[in-house]
Amino acid sequence: MTEEHKGKTAENTETSEKKKEKVGPDGLTKRDRLKIKRHAMPEQAPEERITNFLSVVHGYTLEMAYEEAQRCLDCPRPKCIDGCPAEVDIPAFIMEILKGDLEESYRILKADNALPAVCGRVCPQEEQCELTCLLAKKGPVAIGRLEQFVAEYMLDKYEKEPPKVEKIIPTKEKVAVIGAGPAGITAAADLVKMGYEVTIFEALHKPGGVLNYGIPPFRMPRRILDAELGSIEQMGVDVRCNMVFGKTITHEELLEDGYKAFFLGTGAGLPTFMGIPGENANGVYSANEYLTRVNLMEAWDFPNADTPVFVGKNVVTTGAGNTAMDSARVSRRMPGVEKSYIVYRRTRNEAPARNEEIEHAEQEGIIFKYLTQPIEILRDDKNWITGMRCIKMELGEPDDSGRRRPVPIPDSEFEIECDTLLVAIGQRPNPIAMRSIPGLEISKWGTIVVDDETMMTSVPGVFAGGDAVVGASTVILAVGHGKQAARAVDAYLAEQRGGS
Ligand code: FAD
Ligand code: SF4
Repeated sequence: MTEEHKGKTAENTETSEKKKEKVGPDGLTKRDRLKIKRHAMPEQAPEERITNFLSVVHGYTLEMAYEEAQRCLDCPRPKCIDGCPAEVDIPAFIMEILKGDLEESYRILKADNALPAVCGRVCPQEEQCELTCLLAKKGPVAIGRLEQFVAEYMLDKYEKEPPKVEKIIPTKEKVAVIGAGPAGITAAADLVKMGYEVTIFEALHKPGGVLNYGIPPFRMPRRILDAELGSIEQMGVDVRCNMVFGKTITHEELLEDGYKAFFLGTGAGLPTFMGIPGENANGVYSANEYLTRVNLMEAWDFPNADTPVFVGKNVVTTGAGNTAMDSARVSRRMPGVEKSYIVYRRTRNEAPARNEEIEHAEQEGIIFKYLTQPIEILRDDKNWITGMRCIKMELGEPDDSGRRRPVPIPDSEFEIECDTLLVAIGQRPNPIAMRSIPGLEISKWGTIVVDDETMMTSVPGVFAGGDAVVGASTVILAVGHGKQAARAVDAYLAEQRGGS
């Protein structure tokens, strides 16, 4: 047999084998798909992005999204859906990218998640849908990036050619949603689709919760956030800002006004402090206050925005969660800042922030001081912070959380010079809303106690979800709770009206 003949025979065998394999809408087989490499995300270069508050990631182009979508095996029993707390039909939205129908792809995303652009950008996919994707070990399908691509592509399109959105005429009872974070927004969107007359009462002057006051614009551009949040008002949800439930308006007043059910999505916005000497010094902020000033009140754009914020030359952030990474990265971008540190008592392996955020922070020149515990804030005679006394730590036996407990190393104290300290070691739920409802059961951690199935609290007709129930968590978990609670409110009100 000649070499040419052998080649032809091999080619024919491959073609006939290919014929037997399942072929996708793009004509590729599983074997073809497995050869495609995961697409990197195009980003601003670190030295450029630390000079601005523009989006760090540029997002996939149409071509990149198509090629990444080609990697999906469209598994008969897709594991990725199990990893998504909102149970988005992941393979279905990806297959629509391959068919070229981005409108349908977006419709599939929105059916299960009111905030796909947000989630595409900020979800810890590596611990959720991408972790359970069949290709996880090889390099999972970039599900989050595809979700971001589809949602932002369609939001751009709708900005130019606004779609006709039918306002849903309510036919059912009035429901009050307290808090316009991801949990409240999701519950409201689902309830309005079910025919309820939904009003959101939000304490701040803008909706979005942490998405607006905590996450900086270089991670969550406000044009995209506003477009995504705006869609719920178009559907018919009445969003009332500057309304502090428990102060401006009470549970009783809303009951008298005819509200038949309540959803508390009030988040976990109450900062925790370290409890060390000197923490009341000038120049010490809770990360929440600092981020609210910079992000929501736009101090990053001072003097164009009229919110000033004091930031010195050397800024230290304590903690290693998403809030800490955002605080340190915001500081790196603020005019006049020369050094931005993260001080954390464990190591990088235990840091709770998304891996991508830590990588971005490292690329941006944040100085990480791991295995370091602050023990005292140093001050001048006018009570301004001048530095921090710290002690070095080592990891001992695992604690209740399963993470190895940090233990101080004797005689290892040292000082870090700084003029600003941002405390980002955790948040708890704010008690204002919950204290205003008599009989509402609160846990010893200050979270609202709910029935896991129904999300109903100890007060009939009052439901809760998101960070207010679990403590500081994730956007998608809040979205999942919002969906679960909406179904439960519907079942509860149906029962109240006699099952109709
Ligand atoms: P929130 O988003 O906190 O919203 C609660 C809303 O209720 C707020 O708007 C608040 O003003 C309002 N409210 C409170 N009390 C009242 C009242 N009495 N009356 C009326 N309104 C009230 N998660 C991720 O998945 N990925 C990330 O990258 C990420 N980064 C984060 C970065 C930062 C800086 C922070 C702080 C958190 C981050 N998280 C991240 C966590 C995530 O944002 C939260 O888990 C999520 O926003 C919780 O949603 P929620 O709706 O329960 O609460
Ligand atoms: Fe596609 Fe991964 Fe989901 Fe399988 S598990 S359908 S490969 S995204």
